[in-house]
Amino acid sequence: MQGKLLLFCGPSGSGKTTIVRHLLDTDPRLAFSISATTRPKRETETDGVDYHFISVNEFKRRIDAGEFVEWEEVYKDRFYGTLRSEVDRLWRENKVVVFDVDVEGGLQLKKTFGELLLAVFVMPPSVEALHQRLTARQSETPESLKARVAKAEHELTYAFRFDRVIVNDTLEHALEEAKQVVAGFVQ
Ligand code: ADP
Ligand code: 5GP
Repeated sequence: MQGKLLLFCGPSGSGKTTIVRHLLDTDPRLAFSISATTRPKRETETDGVDYHFISVNEFKRRIDAGEFVEWEEVYKDRFYGTLRSEVDRLWRENKVVVFDVDVEGGLQLKKTFGELLLAVFVMPPSVEALHQRLTARQSETPESLKARVAKAEHELTYAFRFDRVIVNDTLEHALEEAKQVVAGFVQ
């Protein structure tokens, strides 16, 4: 069985997780595709809820077993991937599958699922704001902060390839816009 899919992409710090969490908390038709990753768990995260946290060896075994719809080494030794089993499980529950993945992975999902998938790009108001938000989140080392901002500058050039762009300036406005996007896509 195939259902609809809703993809949120954008640079790290653009506010994807905040927007996606809000949508999931307020709309029972949606459900999150829990990715697998090899990066360490943050204190605020729960294994099996935010991600399936697995080792690099386990991740590579699953690549070889063909378990991923898409996967990327987003940062060095930091693998992230969408499990085919997640998509199938959520479709069986008649849910609209929601993804929060990086830009390359998102474009791969669009290629795979075509019109079934609506691709939304979450744009920060500026790179400076992105830098400030990542700093305030207190999740990064100086090196990882630098890597994320550098990657963001590149990712911003991909926005035009998405079906919709939401500028996350005032959070309240961005959340309202996201709700409207969902309303237009999910009947
Ligand atoms: P991403 O998932 O894209 O990496 P997050 O949702 O974690 O981004 O947001 C990055 C940080 O910025 C978080 O600390 C979040 O609370 C904060 N944030 C999100 N949206 C806004 C906004 N519109 N204004 C200010 N801070 C924001
Ligand atoms: P974070 O470490 O901040 O949770 O995520 C880092 C980046 O990896 C974000 O851009 C996030 O969207 C992306 N990401 C999360 N899950 C996946 C996935 O399954 N596939 C891909 N390609 N990227 C992912």
